[in-house]
Amino acid sequence: THFGYRDVPVGDKQKLVGEVFSSVATKYDVMNDLMSLGIHRVWKRYFVATAQAKRGDRVLDLAGGTGDIAALLADRVGDTGEVVVGDINGDMLRVGRDRMTDRGRVGGLSWVQCNAQELPFPDGYFDLVTIAFGLRNVTDKDAALREMLRVLRPGGQARVLEFSQVTAGWFRPLYDFHSFNVLPRLGSMIAGDEASYRYLAESIRKHPPQRELQAMMDAAGFARTSYRNLSAGIVAIHTGYKA
Ligand code: SAM
Repeated sequence: THFGYRDVPVGDKQKLVGEVFSSVATKYDVMNDLMSLGIHRVWKRYFVATAQAKRGDRVLDLAGGTGDIAALLADRVGDTGEVVVGDINGDMLRVGRDRMTDRGRVGGLSWVQCNAQELPFPDGYFDLVTIAFGLRNVTDKDAALREMLRVLRPGGQARVLEFSQVTAGWFRPLYDFHSFNVLPRLGSMIAGDEASYRYLAESIRKHPPQRELQAMMDAAGFARTSYRNLSAGIVAIHTGYKA
């Protein structure tokens, strides 16, 4: 693979986000399982299983620190493929890389510290670009979407997995209770960090809902954009192509 570790200068908000994730990097998995009752694994598996990828493809997983998506992608592109994991946070990358090494996966993978807003990759390099639970944290989402498009080859696919807007009215009060009461408490008990999990709930509410994100992808220049809700819109998968 062609990309080594690289540092990209980051702004203040990016640094803050980076620190939030540093403080939770190691407890991250346990928390994800607890918060979602394990369902995040199903979402991720579905996200990758339905992505446009084949053996030998070059794929980029942005904000991919934990390596969850990368591991699934590696199975899809096989030994001849290339999986690049990009994340702004070095700790997340290290956790992901160590985990993959423990699972016996080393080849065909590279770990690149980079900001999704300014990718250190050439135009048209990748067949598929994914970002799972990451776009929400990016300051300039439009810039990140434009960069995802830029590094895709014509015909290539971009896929975003992200928290979205719950569609079922009856479910909203429950979901809000979980987000603003259960979640920060879990965060303080398990990760000793209530603030990060409050930030999480707030960032989910601020993230553009389904239609709005689709419009942003259209504006960034993606063709044939669409989305699909999972679990009543708790998360959505957005898809777009490079014409
Ligand atoms: N994709 C992984 C998953 O689904 O388990 C990790 C998601 S985690 C909630 C969000 C990740 O986004 C963190 O690892 C964080 O460092 C990264 N991140 C935040 N802002 C970023 C940016 N501007 N560019 C690249 N990565 C970023």
